[in-house]
Amino acid sequence: MPSTDEPATTGLLLSGGLDSAVLLGQLLNEGQRVQPFHVCMDFLWQREELRAATRYREAVGWTHAKPGQLLPLVALEMPVADLYGPHWSITGRETPGEHSADEAVYLPGHNALLLLKVVLWCHSHGVDRVAIASLANNPFGDATSAFFESFEAALRLATGGTVRITRPFERLTKRDVMQRDQSLPLELTFSCLAPVRGLHCGRCNKCAERRQAFQHWPSGDPTPYAK
Ligand SMILES: [Zn+2]
Repeated sequence: MPSTDEPATTGLLLSGGLDSAVLLGQLLNEGQRVQPFHVCMDFLWQREELRAATRYREAVGWTHAKPGQLLPLVALEMPVADLYGPHWSITGRETPGEHSADEAVYLPGHNALLLLKVVLWCHSHGVDRVAIASLANNPFGDATSAFFESFEAALRLATGGTVRITRPFERLTKRDVMQRDQSLPLELTFSCLAPVRGLHCGRCNKCAERRQAFQHWPSGDPTPYAK
């Protein structure tokens, strides 16, 4: 029987990028026990992202977690190549460049696809909340309060369960996130749409966003870009 003063477990979508990496640090600092998830979706950057999520989780487990507080990463498959077809996220053709608008990196139904299996996993393993590091200025329909509330309600109807979807960063910008905890090993994260030999390309929309984000990091940008 688990003791009653055992902390509740929070599921966390850990993409391997900056925002969810910072959120993992915050949940651990708050004393929550964390079950991290990575959802594998066929994207061109999938392998690098999973590798980053794995090594970041491992590093933070040593430096920022008490024994037993950070559970092993669970990787779930949600392949989308059959659905997305010729989309740039699968083919690498016409990848949004460094001067493209945020709207250019839209991945159809991304948050719904990310959350579906994770919420169902949590439901069947007795975890009653899932955190996602969605930021205030996310421009997409599947990052709105209305979407998250409706999706949570639909999955409750589907399962008869009570898993809640929480968004601790819903009012924060990237700059706020980068100023949250400067002890985190963010150099281990990965956020690029077109990796070159495992490195950040330095030319895509996400690399530009990353460079900008690290302007708010005291020691600067530690990323070795291919260009
Ligand atoms: Zn890139």
